Amino acid sequence: MESTKFPNPTKLFISILTYRNFVRKVYMCPIDDGVIKYDRSQFELSNALMADEFSELEKWRDTLYKLKLIGEYLPEKIGYGNLSQRKEYLFLHKTENPQFIITGTQTGGLPTLFGDHYTRVLDFDLAKNLVKVKGPLEASSEALTHAAVYEGNTSINVVFHIHSTAIWKGMIKENYPATAKEIPYGTLDMAQAVQNIVKNNDTGLIVMKGHDDGVISFAPDMDTAGKLLLEVYDKFGG
Ligand SMILES: [Zn+2]
Repeated sequence: MESTKFPNPTKLFISILTYRNFVRKVYMCPIDDGVIKYDRSQFELSNALMADEFSELEKWRDTLYKLKLIGEYLPEKIGYGNLSQRKEYLFLHKTENPQFIITGTQTGGLPTLFGDHYTRVLDFDLAKNLVKVKGPLEASSEALTHAAVYEGNTSINVVFHIHSTAIWKGMIKENYPATAKEIPYGTLDMAQAVQNIVKNNDTGLIVMKGHDDGVISFAPDMDTAGKLLLEVYDKFGG
């Protein structure tokens, strides 16, 4: 029997599925938090951090984790939420850029973090998408956004990034300071967008319209940054 000129239906179906998944992955993935987009060639492995270096951050992380503002998307098991605090690490690396401690990549799902879950950003280059890290693990995939905030305003010492659908939607509805829908996280565009917002504000909240559920709080001190998130949590729900 002569073979049909139509494509094999099974093969066609698989091709369509593959193409759909590719498009989703590249353009539509709503939770790409786990993907490190920055150049990580300058990662230097070190021992775990001592408790006094991260305990202040961990206190707030504990509160935010219990409210599920930090956590893990299931079933994908992609962690979300990352916290940082400006530090001086000039004894490790000389630079004029801000330096900070930040939660490590893919730690969102862990209820408690220890010294091997925090790491140090010693330097960065926003234009080159480069982050120089020294610690027990690589920095959060959103480290460059944190870096941009610190660079954008020298009075800001704390940056918290959380996820919450209710807060995100509520903030968009009420026109809180926002980064545009076209701007995905972890990009130079995002860095510039947050800098525009923080340059004249040392305390506040940002809703990232192009990063589903993504909200940032920033302040000169940790309690202020944390309380801003508790306020919107109370206002809009978790
Ligand atoms: Zn995020």
